[in-house]
Amino acid sequence: MISRTNWGRLHLFCWVCGVTSNLQNHDIARGCHRASGARNPANWVRCCFECHDRLGDYGQWPVVRQLALKMSRDAAYYNLAAVNVLRGRQAFAIAQDEVDAALATIEPVPVYLVDAFR
Ligand SMILES: [Zn+2]
Repeated sequence: MISRTNWGRLHLFCWVCGVTSNLQNHDIARGCHRASGARNPANWVRCCFECHDRLGDYGQWPVVRQLALKMSRDAAYYNLAAVNVLRGRQAFAIAQDEVDAALATIEPVPVYLVDAFR
């Protein structure tokens, strides 16, 4: 399985705002579930320092919206059932149709970033 560091090297801009500096890995499953999530790429979201703060606010970024961001930016490691289980829930606790609905709140990657990192 890919290491957290090597996975981060594949994601060169913040998935939320698009900046390319001060990048960090955010964990979707947190709290007491964070240790197992830290080893599973399905749980990781690439973001800058400032957006990392925003992602910690469930009012702005409920888990289902974080999952939609993950699906949009990192389809290769998107695994809804794995994240549900990492969070200590049943595999189908959050359903794919809920993530699909949340996708409407996710901005597409700006064209300049798509071109820069093609
Ligand atoms: Zn950002």
